Amino acid sequence: MDKNSKILIVGAGPVGLTLHRFLKKEGYTRVRHIDKSMTMAQESRAVGIHAFTLQVIFKELGLQEEFKKRGVAIQKLVFEKQGKILHSLVLPRFLCAIGQNITEEILGRDLNIQRGIECVYVDEYGNARLKRQDGLIEEDKYDLIVGADGTHSIVRQMLGIEFSGKSYPQTWSLKDVEFDHPITELQSGLIQLHEDGVLLFVMAIGPKTFRVFSNSPDCEKYLPKDIRITSTYWSANYHVHCRIANSYYKGKCVIMGDAAHTSSPVGGTGMNSGMEDAYLFVKALEQNGIKDWAKQRRRYEKNLLFWTDTIYGFMTKKGPFAHLFRQFVLKYFVKIDWIQKKLFKKFSRPF
Ligand SMILES: Cc1cc2nc3c(=O)[nH]c(=O)nc-3n(C[C@H](O)[C@H](O)[C@H](O)COP(=O)(O)OP(=O)(O)OC[C@H]3O[C@@H](n4cnc5c(N)ncnc54)[C@H](O)[C@@H]3O)c2cc1C
Repeated sequence: MDKNSKILIVGAGPVGLTLHRFLKKEGYTRVRHIDKSMTMAQESRAVGIHAFTLQVIFKELGLQEEFKKRGVAIQKLVFEKQGKILHSLVLPRFLCAIGQNITEEILGRDLNIQRGIECVYVDEYGNARLKRQDGLIEEDKYDLIVGADGTHSIVRQMLGIEFSGKSYPQTWSLKDVEFDHPITELQSGLIQLHEDGVLLFVMAIGPKTFRVFSNSPDCEKYLPKDIRITSTYWSANYHVHCRIANSYYKGKCVIMGDAAHTSSPVGGTGMNSGMEDAYLFVKALEQNGIKDWAKQRRRYEKNLLFWTDTIYGFMTKKGPFAHLFRQFVLKYFVKIDWIQKKLFKKFSRPF
């Protein structure tokens, strides 16, 4: 694609920002980037940066060291029951834990984002209608429109692209908290799997801050008894889905990130695979390979959704037999090196 092509990016979440950075790096000069929100993300939301994102995507952007400095390196996963460690798993490559607000702050630095502008219409011929906060409407035509506008993507809806899949029935909860506990020294993620199908994850995201989250409406209830929360910075309840767009492009429009796929937090793939979409898209643009990119990314994401859904099902199946089976599988999983490597490779690499 010509470096003078007129490009519109809708949405300045982590995916839109990654895309903008790479377009700028490759010398595309006519990029317009809008977001309907007046401010960038204030909450920590997605907190896990995978090895590929850190060591390839952020490295190419010259941001790897800053992420390493500001994030927490999670080296280990610990499966725990009532204060007793059942299994411990050293990660083949560490996970960088950092709040999404900080990720967006770093990615968005020095980029020209026009905020308070909402995209209300696009079509496959590159026409877009934008609405400013004062009600003023602008219409223009672009060579390329990218919808990085999240799960409820207007770009996807306007193009009539279906978002197939399912919504999980459970209400999830999360809290960013401060507490004093030996886990502070472990640099590890703690996981509890309960007989009633409840999962609990605890992970350090800052010097003294922890993310606690669960597929139950009250994650705090499941915390080990010796943990006492001293401060709560953010809490939320949310629903989780497993969905993928039937196509990633139509005519002059493309969708990526949550606009194109959404999954359960198991594996922490949501934001990472979205940023991979953006990174690989710019590589594909250089070779006029948008159609191949769209096919390849969709195939990759379908496979990823299959695995996150299967593992989520395995981890949350209710009943004593399912629970015993889970413990049995985990006992061997933590011992067999090549299975771990294969699984981690699946979750943290784009192909
Ligand atoms: C409570 C919560 C917890 C989460 N936890 C995790 C986690 O632990 N791990 C994980 O991987 N993921 C997690 N996620 C998901 C993660 O936040 C998303 O995968 C990630 O933000 C996707 O990035 P994105 O850029 O595709 O979309 P978004 O971050 O949703 O950004 C979309 C942007 O588009 C803008 N926009 C939308 N519509 C328009 C429009 N019409 N015109 C202009 N702008 C528009 C929005 O204002 C927004 O800034 C969580 C999400 C939530 C809500």
